[in-house]
Amino acid sequence: MRLRLNYRRYALPFRAPVRTAHGVWAERTGLIVRLDNEAGRAGYGEVSPIPWFGTETVEETEAALGLLGEWVTPEQLAAVPAKLGCLRFALASACAEKQPVPSSAYLAVAALLPAGRAAVTQIAPNAELGFRTFKWKVGVGDIADELSLLDDVIGELPSGAKLRLDANGAWDRRQAARWLDRAAERPVEFIEQPVAADSRGAEDVLRGLAGDFPTPLALDESLVGASDVDRWLAADWRGIFVIKAALLGDPAPVVARLAAAKADVVFSSALETAVGARAALQIAFAWTGKPRALGFGVWPLFAQGVFDGPFSSPFIRTEDVERLNPEAVWTALN
Ligand code: MG
Repeated sequence: MRLRLNYRRYALPFRAPVRTAHGVWAERTGLIVRLDNEAGRAGYGEVSPIPWFGTETVEETEAALGLLGEWVTPEQLAAVPAKLGCLRFALASACAEKQPVPSSAYLAVAALLPAGRAAVTQIAPNAELGFRTFKWKVGVGDIADELSLLDDVIGELPSGAKLRLDANGAWDRRQAARWLDRAAERPVEFIEQPVAADSRGAEDVLRGLAGDFPTPLALDESLVGASDVDRWLAADWRGIFVIKAALLGDPAPVVARLAAAKADVVFSSALETAVGARAALQIAFAWTGKPRALGFGVWPLFAQGVFDGPFSSPFIRTEDVERLNPEAVWTALN
């Protein structure tokens, strides 16, 4: 069997620049891949790398696609190196003959709160909409200022709601311990990436903190690809795995290994377009383990709405995922 390979590169401005631990991000670059089989069926996939996270770059992906050429076999696609995890994810999506079977009709979504004091006033309007999980970016300002805001933020939560804290690796062990000490006995669902994945002894520090405090820890930047997931599974990590399917290569086998280990998983966006969102959300909906609120409350994200995934709301339904139209994204990039 031969497949015809096409791709279109994109550079899409965000509606508003995205603040990250690595500075301000104004434009999303990536690729949409299209594979046509000999029966004329087209499949689409998205390469949405985050190079400062540790993924390949768009240029590396384009070089690999250039080497593959216009006509490819499934064997050639399977031989794309594992280090091109975002490309392997796109090719797996574009090749998929059948979609994963959903195990839920709808899934809750976490509301994203801005860093600093602005979070406090954003909770009530989101609670009014129906959100019950809130994610607050921390590690952005002074640690004492942020710690002193924690009870104000928690005070605004509706009853039964949970707060996630995402430090994006901003703290050292001592600072992380201060936060974990404060979070104990408060409705903090988990603390995400308290110390940087590339800091010295990070894995031991994360395991040590997880053992010393009751609030669960979540790994995000520590999981750049399937090999990282496998390493933490092998180490019997009992905290949370933040899974950005877009970075995982062919996600099906990795997700199967997570399921077999009864891992605790949060599915999360890599700020992809509707093409990658559709594939990533299908994986989240097929998950049969404990459901946690999705980290997909990111859209509308792009200046042009055709590229967006399902708009942020307290729940995403399977219909919202099925309605996403990869072909419309492809056409819009013409
Ligand atoms: Mg994170």
